[in-house]
Amino acid sequence: MTDQALNASVDLMSQRGLGPEAIRVFTHYFQQLQAGAQGTIPEDSIEPLGDIQTLGEVKVSDEEARAALSKTAVIKLNGGLGTGMGMTGAKSALEVRDGLTFLDIIALQVLALRKRWDVELPLVLMNSFRTSQESLDILAKYPDLPVEGLPLDFIQNAEPKLCPDGLMPVKWPKDPELEWCPPGHGDIYVSLVTSGVLDALLDKGIRYAFLSNSDNLGATCDPDVAAWMVEHGLPYVAEVCKRTKSDRKGGHLAVRKSDGRIVLRDTAMVAEGEERYFRDIKRHSTFNANNLWIDLEVLRERMTAKQGVLGLPIIVNRKNVDPADASSPEVIQMESAMGTAIEVFEGSEAILVPRTRFRPVKTTNDLLVIRSDFFSLDDDYHVVAAVDGPEPFVDLDSAYRFVSGFEKRFPKGVPSMRDCTSLRVIGDPVFGRNVRCVGEVLIDGYRRVLDDAVLGELPGPTTPTPPSTSGDLRTVDEHLKAILSTLEPSPTEWTPLTEALGLVVARDVRSKVDLPRFDNSSMDGYAVRADSLAGTGEAPVRLHIVGEVAAGDDPTFSVGPGEAARIMTGAPIPDGADAVIAVEDTDGAATGEVECHAAVSRGRYVRPCGEDVASGSTIVGAGEVVGARTIALLAACGHAGVEVHRRPRVVVLSTGSELVQPGQPLGPGQIHDSNSAMLWAAAVGAGASAEIRGAVGDSEDELLAALDEIVTEADVVITSGGVSMGAFDVVKSALRGKGVEFVRVAMQPGKPQGYGLLAGPDGRQVPLFALPGNPVSSFVSFEVFVRPALRRLMRLTPEKRRPRPATLISGVESFAGRRQFGRAVVSRSAEGTLVAAPVAGQGSHFVADLSRANALFVVPEDVTELVAGEVVDVLVLDKDA
Ligand code: AMP
Ligand code: MG
Repeated sequence: MTDQALNASVDLMSQRGLGPEAIRVFTHYFQQLQAGAQGTIPEDSIEPLGDIQTLGEVKVSDEEARAALSKTAVIKLNGGLGTGMGMTGAKSALEVRDGLTFLDIIALQVLALRKRWDVELPLVLMNSFRTSQESLDILAKYPDLPVEGLPLDFIQNAEPKLCPDGLMPVKWPKDPELEWCPPGHGDIYVSLVTSGVLDALLDKGIRYAFLSNSDNLGATCDPDVAAWMVEHGLPYVAEVCKRTKSDRKGGHLAVRKSDGRIVLRDTAMVAEGEERYFRDIKRHSTFNANNLWIDLEVLRERMTAKQGVLGLPIIVNRKNVDPADASSPEVIQMESAMGTAIEVFEGSEAILVPRTRFRPVKTTNDLLVIRSDFFSLDDDYHVVAAVDGPEPFVDLDSAYRFVSGFEKRFPKGVPSMRDCTSLRVIGDPVFGRNVRCVGEVLIDGYRRVLDDAVLGELPGPTTPTPPSTSGDLRTVDEHLKAILSTLEPSPTEWTPLTEALGLVVARDVRSKVDLPRFDNSSMDGYAVRADSLAGTGEAPVRLHIVGEVAAGDDPTFSVGPGEAARIMTGAPIPDGADAVIAVEDTDGAATGEVECHAAVSRGRYVRPCGEDVASGSTIVGAGEVVGARTIALLAACGHAGVEVHRRPRVVVLSTGSELVQPGQPLGPGQIHDSNSAMLWAAAVGAGASAEIRGAVGDSEDELLAALDEIVTEADVVITSGGVSMGAFDVVKSALRGKGVEFVRVAMQPGKPQGYGLLAGPDGRQVPLFALPGNPVSSFVSFEVFVRPALRRLMRLTPEKRRPRPATLISGVESFAGRRQFGRAVVSRSAEGTLVAAPVAGQGSHFVADLSRANALFVVPEDVTELVAGEVVDVLVLDKDA
């Protein structure tokens, strides 16, 4: 029976035009399968790989590298269809970054190597018949790529999929192409022979080939490995990488006890019950990167001796005949893996290479990282990490799994991942432009992520902190971090819609109703049955008016054939009617008969019930900021309020015996208190509610008495003045030791800062900011420390203002070891770039110049001078800040 089965497959293969080698290999595996081969490698038959060469320790001269590369070809496995990412065409035709597909980048990498080493370095793809045309079309952009006497691709063989019962070739008339599969990438050796590419390469004097997957952009043709292989006369080299906990799945190399040869054990080759050995990363500490190097002469010899049957271990794969349809019949696919050829050649070696040579894009999680600014392409089109440290871990929800869903949710590009350690997305929010992920990020229940959002923790210092110049000063970032570490989002409370603007939603909200709530009209006109107007052509049709419906009515009549009801926008569609004809298309009659001049299709001008929102569905997610549009949605869905993080109540208190409230006459030595109103406005601008307490004189008792009162009602206290070294700096003297810490921060202005938690009633802790008194210092301190703190309390990301580069139009000087926040007027140049004009008065008492400025410019701690034309970071201020 099974001979018949084998013959049936062989006949099909010859009909398809597959060569004798392909058929011999198929037969070889078929017989193994018949004999009950499982294709497993038991743990007790192998030993761990042991010590191997590390690529970093290979010493190669330029001449050796060039010589090796001049005899090497690059072969990319390019048969992958990206079905796991919902793609139907060649996976390598997917855009990776900067408008370049995998294939573009591969081509450019090869061209760069050729130029750099002055070598021919042919590139050949192993395609399946499904990927060939699309791939060659992309490579056609590079006219210099083809090499005389060699094709740009060859097509791998195919074999019939087999029915598990009886091993007959499967029949699938729905799509006969699905009756075939590629015999795994181990088929590359056979295909190289049957396509004639092996001979063509050797004829050209190409003796070595570097084989790797086209979705692994880290797999560049490394001259050092090539030279090492040549120097030691190795027939075959496999690159391996250190295994980490997250790589427990991929195959690993080991030494076969019986003959000392290196073998590859893939996931599918693990014997039953031995998964724990396979997963043990201490025992099997490296994994196979599937970047392989082979001596083509040795390969040809071997293939000739064995008549094309290399004898790679069989992999028995069980799949559905239609991979996209889990209910289609199960089939067996006999496969082999390219990397298992390591056991075939006497003297094969492994080499330990950096992780950077293994960067496959298997999922859209991988795609996100490779598209992000975590990586960049260097001049040789190598994908290089822009940051030190491990790649961020990304786990997107199922909505992002297919490329189409992924693209839809990142319409303006993927987030910045440079400072991100992990990003997990639950749900399916759409991401805005310029989103930045920092540290560990979890997005759960968001409907969208707004433009410019910063997700996650506070970023570390953006400017390098100078070593010792700041002495005992605390850096700006340290101080901010210390403040934020004491704060948590405020408690949540149900808040009426009109008081929730700018606050963050604490819990998902579901709709109480369908939207629209009932079928209603989107036009003033007549509700009709579309059929009644079907005959409307040259001659108008007259319909009998049976009633009238206005918004808010509940019509009790129904509309029959030949009838119409006058209807207004928003009014319910009466029973029987299925369309609305606009009043403009009629004579507008109010009673009797209406003359209709147009036909309408069923559903015309009808807004169907539930079209917008289904009752019970989530309309707003926890973490969203309430804006006018959120409020519209909440109101429409029946919510008069929403659970949000409470708006912090700020009380502002000025200190100084010289202070008089604006509007009051000034006595000798007195000035108007401007900080109170300024800090009040800044707090309100940041989204808090605020209250001015007025000014207290420079008396500890007065201050403490005022604070005693304030802490009973405030969530946050801001004082100004009295924190420096003067004899009357009462804030400092009164509050030191009472939970408030006074520090000197390496910034200018704003060096003296106080912060701490005051004990409020019921064990509540009330954060207090003691800001310096000079108006400019006070303002800058608010921007740098208080605003992020208020945002954290509101569960907004602490960072709001994004530094932008601007060109200075005049030079500035700055103290060494201090971060300077200067005031500037920022505008756009004709070319669209930002230019910053520092205001004349940079002293911290210049209120008019402060008010004139619209931005702060930031001079890093280690910079003491910037000249006109240099670029500086600016923080553009809100219009109302
Ligand atoms: P101090 O930090 O108290 O030494 O004040 C530093 C400078 O800022 C002094 O010139 C004060 O007069 C001024 N100043 C302090 N508080 C205010 C305020 N609320 N409004 C305007 N100027 C102030
Ligand atoms: Mg003072």
